[in-house]
Amino acid sequence: MSRAGIVSVVGKPNAGKSTLLNRIIGQKLSITSAKPQSTRDQIIGIRTEGDQQMVIVDTPGLLDPRYALQRAMRAAAQRALDDADVILYLADARDGVPPPLEEAAQLGTPPRAPVLTVLNKIDTLAPALRAALPGGRQDLMAISALTGEGVDALMQAVAEQLPESPFLYPEDEIGTQPLRFFAGELIRETALEQLQDEVPYSVACAVEEFREDRSPVYIRAVIYVERESQKGILIGHRGARIRDIGRAARGKIEKFIDAPVYLDLRVKVLANWRRNAQALRRFGYTLPKE
Ligand code: GDP
Ligand code: MG
Repeated sequence: MSRAGIVSVVGKPNAGKSTLLNRIIGQKLSITSAKPQSTRDQIIGIRTEGDQQMVIVDTPGLLDPRYALQRAMRAAAQRALDDADVILYLADARDGVPPPLEEAAQLGTPPRAPVLTVLNKIDTLAPALRAALPGGRQDLMAISALTGEGVDALMQAVAEQLPESPFLYPEDEIGTQPLRFFAGELIRETALEQLQDEVPYSVACAVEEFREDRSPVYIRAVIYVERESQKGILIGHRGARIRDIGRAARGKIEKFIDAPVYLDLRVKVLANWRRNAQALRRFGYTLPKE
């Protein structure tokens, strides 16, 4: 009998969840960033090996839900926990062993699925600290998502926890999100990279047209910001910055879909979109019911 199940990756922003997902799937599915909260909804990756299939869900941080965007993020993380067969609870090894998940995420009840606590970023530890890492525990493992160290052993431990089940997806699939979703995420990632801290979390991207039947593939996308001043920053002097963003994003998309791309990229203002449920849905975020 095959084994298959849902593996949810949770943890504080910046713990390395998206980096781990990309490492596990072996392709860049989830945007990573040195800034927290770059992942805003569930990203699903699929790893099929032999008679085992893991459906991996990358979650945004479990944060205080202060406004609509954050409520959507927390709801996505909560859903991922409820659906999970195995939970990977990622933490930065430099902060030591984290408090239990139900405490850290203020869950009413402990999750149903087994929790593997994963200390990530061990490549950053001094040798003495690494030697002092707790070893020999099935539910506490140490890895580096960046270098891959310890990831095979982690996959082994996860596989052992998967329920017996037929595959949940065809075995040649690696993701359940349409390509246009990834194109939008890559554009948003590029904008965040080039903006440093100037336009914190006001950037969203909507892919309005994605024509795979053309060569080069035609993509029309809009970067939305919340204020005119932010629009000016994104566009830059005589459009220099938006051109740079477009060029870099196009390169990433071409690498991802392995085909030449024509990217038509514009910037628009949508005041307060982060508090606007309709706008959030348009950008692909799933909102919880009130
Ligand atoms: P997320 O918010 O939990 O999804 O975290 P990300 O995957 O976006 O990673 C946050 C930052 O930590 C990025 O700059 C990553 O490159 C970095 N990072 C992730 N894993 C590791 C690791 O194992 N070692 C080191 N040195 N950095 C890492
Ligand atoms: Mg992330």
